[in-house]
This record gives sequence, C-alpha cells and structure tokens, in this order.
Amino acid sequence: MSDQNPSSSPSYDALRAELREIEVFGSVAALLSWDQETMMPANGTSLRAEQAALIGQVVHDRRTSEKFGDLLSRCETDAELSADPAIAANLREVRRAFDQAVLIPTSLVRQFAETTTHAQRAWRDSRERSDFSSFAPWLEKIVALTRSKSECLARPGTVDPYDPLLDEYEPGARTADVVEVFRDLRARLAPLIRAVAGADRRPEDRIHSIRIPVPRQIEFNVKIARHVGFDFDAGRLDTSTHPFCQGVGPGDTRLTTRYREDDFFDALSSTLHEAGHGMYEQGLPKERFPGEPLSEPVSLGIHESQSRMWENFVGRSAPFWEWALPAAQEAFGDLLKGIDTEEVYGAMNIVEPGLIRVDSDEATYNLHIMLRFDLERALLSGELPVSDLPGAWNERMKADLGLNVPDDRRGCLQDVHWSMGAIGYFPTYTLGNLYAAQFWAQIQQQLPSLDERMAAGDFGELLGWLRGEIHQHGRRFPAPDLCQRVTGKPLSALPFMRYLEAKVGAVYGI
Ligand code: ZN
Repeated sequence: MSDQNPSSSPSYDALRAELREIEVFGSVAALLSWDQETMMPANGTSLRAEQAALIGQVVHDRRTSEKFGDLLSRCETDAELSADPAIAANLREVRRAFDQAVLIPTSLVRQFAETTTHAQRAWRDSRERSDFSSFAPWLEKIVALTRSKSECLARPGTVDPYDPLLDEYEPGARTADVVEVFRDLRARLAPLIRAVAGADRRPEDRIHSIRIPVPRQIEFNVKIARHVGFDFDAGRLDTSTHPFCQGVGPGDTRLTTRYREDDFFDALSSTLHEAGHGMYEQGLPKERFPGEPLSEPVSLGIHESQSRMWENFVGRSAPFWEWALPAAQEAFGDLLKGIDTEEVYGAMNIVEPGLIRVDSDEATYNLHIMLRFDLERALLSGELPVSDLPGAWNERMKADLGLNVPDDRRGCLQDVHWSMGAIGYFPTYTLGNLYAAQFWAQIQQQLPSLDERMAAGDFGELLGWLRGEIHQHGRRFPAPDLCQRVTGKPLSALPFMRYLEAKVGAVYGI
C-alpha cells in the first residue's frame, strides 16, 4: 500500500515533487485572495490584479508543461503504479486536471485573473451605490471570457455549454442531471413554502433583535468554533463583509465571519458554516499526500455539505441549543435572560421568503439558487443580455418568492460570485444541502445517541464520523461514488425534503 512509502518509481516521485511545488504556488494565490477580502487597501487593487495574474500564469504553465505531461504519461504506463488503488486514484485525477488545463491558453488564464480582480472592485462599488450600470461592462467581459473558456473546454459529446463550467466546481456533474434534481426538489419545496405561508402558528422571533456588543460576540464565536472541533493552531477566524473559508495549505485554514450588533445568531450561523468548511479542510490528508489530489476536497458540493451540516443540521437543531443556549447565557449574562431553548429553536427555523440569499432559511434558500442557476445559463447562452439581468432577476423573485426587489443592491448585485468569474458555482450550494441531508440520514442511523451527545456539548462523535467517512478520502472517490459508498444510494432530493418537512411541519404545526 502506498501510504508510507508511496513509490520507488522515479517518475512518480518527480511528478509528486511537481505537484507539491504547484501546491505551494497555489497557496500563495490563496493567501493573496484571503488578503484581498480582509486586509488589502482599495488602492492595492491594480497591483493585486498583476500579482494574481502572474501567479495564475505560473501555476497554469507548470500544470500544462511538457515535462509534467511526460511524467504523467510515464506513470500511467507503469503497471506497478496503477495496481496501487491510491496511486491509481491520484493519477486519474491528475490526468483529468491536466487534460482540462491544456485546453485553456495561458493568455485566457491571465486575462481571466486580471479582469476578475478589477471586476470585484467594480462590483463592490456598484453594489454600494446600487448602480448596476457601472458593473454591467465588467459582467459583459466576464460572460464573454467564460464563453471562451467553455468553448475551450468543450469536448466531443459536450451537450451544454454550461457543462464544462459546472464540471470545474462539481467534477462529473452534468447540467441535465442538476436540472432534474432541482425539478424534483422544487416540486416538493414549493407546496411546503406555501403551506408555511398559510399556517396559523408562527414562531416568536424576538431573539433576532437582541443587541450584543461585537467584541463579546467575537470571543463567543471563537469559543464555539473551537468547541465543535476547528483547530486554531492550524487556522484563524477573522471578520469580512462576506464570510468565507480559505484553505491556504497544510496547517493553515482561514475562516471569516461577519457580526451584526443587533443579531448575534447571524454571526453564529456563519461561524458554524465556515467552521464546517474549515474542519473539512483540516481533515484532508494534506501532510500524507502533499499537493496530490488525494489531499484535495472532492467537489464544492461535498465541501458545502460539510458547512451546511454544521450550520443547519447541527446549528438549527434542538439538541445543539440545549447545550449552546446555556453557554451563550453564561457568556452574555442578562442580555439573553428569559429565553428558552424552545424559543431559540423556533426562531432558528422560521421559513420566510426574503431578498437576500445568505440570510434565507433552509427552505427558501434553494429557490434563490435555482434562480441564479437559470439566469446564469441564460447569460451564457446569450438568451439573456447582461443589460436585461436586473429586470429578469426581479421578475423571477416575484414569481418564485412573491417579493418586489426595491434595488439592485438587494437584487442581482448581492453576490460576489459573478464578479469573480464563478459562473457554474451556484448549483453546488443546493447540491451541498442535498448531500448534507443524505449523509445526515445515514449518521442518524449509525450514531443513535448523537442527539444526547450534542445536547451535552460533545461533537467529537460527529466529527469523527465525518473524518472517517468523508474527510480522510480527499478526492479518492468522485462525489457520486462517495455518496453511494457512504449512503448506499445515489444523490436525491428525498432525504432533504423528508428532513425539512418533518422539522418545518413541527415548528409550524402543518
Ligand atoms: Zn459555504
């Protein structure tokens, strides 16, 4: 087995050395990106664009070099190497990435990195002023570059120009499959949301307006992240406008959250979400397989399944609050006086259509994703001109969620993704919810005393399960195979809907 002494093949050793160096360059890019979101002054944008473009080019050149290709081919023809399942999985994934990377010219990689760095700055300004017209030219550029990328990556048999983009974030997923899963989901989700709107009972939500000073919240959020299992010797928790997790490399995982003085539950949800991503990063076997696919996350959908599990399946559960509410009351004293677990549980599970994706509940969240998935495919195909995006967005919000969008800031300018060139990314959020639910159903069967443990503040059993079943494998199994292996079934919307119907049904008495 390859774990201790992976190979005596000089070609494989040389390939691994290349992968390791590429990883180090990648970690520099990751750190620059973290800095851009948290620390960089506004006037640093131009230099950052050059830095990002240059690093992007170096990484791309290394990943597509003749030397790299030769080494890979030599390893693939070595029967002894392919006989080892771990090495075979590594080679399969290195080949996949290589075959894709060589299809994209370096000039496009550079242009993409430069354009998106500037576009993010432009997006930030236009969002602040709620002025779509100043972001529109950048989005036009990004859609055009994305179209070129999709054309470069298309292979014989690619039926949908969205396929190669989706594949970047969710390897192996096809647009047609996502359309089908989303259709099933919508068919059961829409009636549930309608039933909630017509329910007589509605949970009290005064907990969402309790004011707690931010410095005290920071202390508490760090405590919670540490308690559920995020390792602060190998990571940090900082503040940013949009919470995120950046895996820099082995021993260095950066989380951010955001604080609202008038709603401490908001920061806590974000912290649990990002800590879920962070614990996945920390659980990947990065030291054992440095730079190799076996140490990388499977897909964004699986990544998101980990964050949504901690945020929702744990963080919006009654057992969690049995432990967390007394802990919060100890930290905040009188500020949380007179609140009980039942009230927090009800308030954490209110279902109500809202304008902002990241603030939305577990049910309506997925409608936000479907809207973005449909609109970005229409942008890509050219069916929807960029200038018509705000109108199309507002129409869909009205149709799907019954809401009027008062301005673009709370409409099509709310998310950073398109300014980053991340078209193809959104569906992975809902896939993450579905994976999380399917894993959770399995966890409930395998860990029958989990609720009691969580209520006692013991999250080690759950994290241990995730480490063993998911984290330690890295990219060894593609997402659909991992799902089958862990749950015995292919991904479906059913476990998610069962979970949601049971919970929402109980909270609203429907
Ligand atoms: Zn996430």
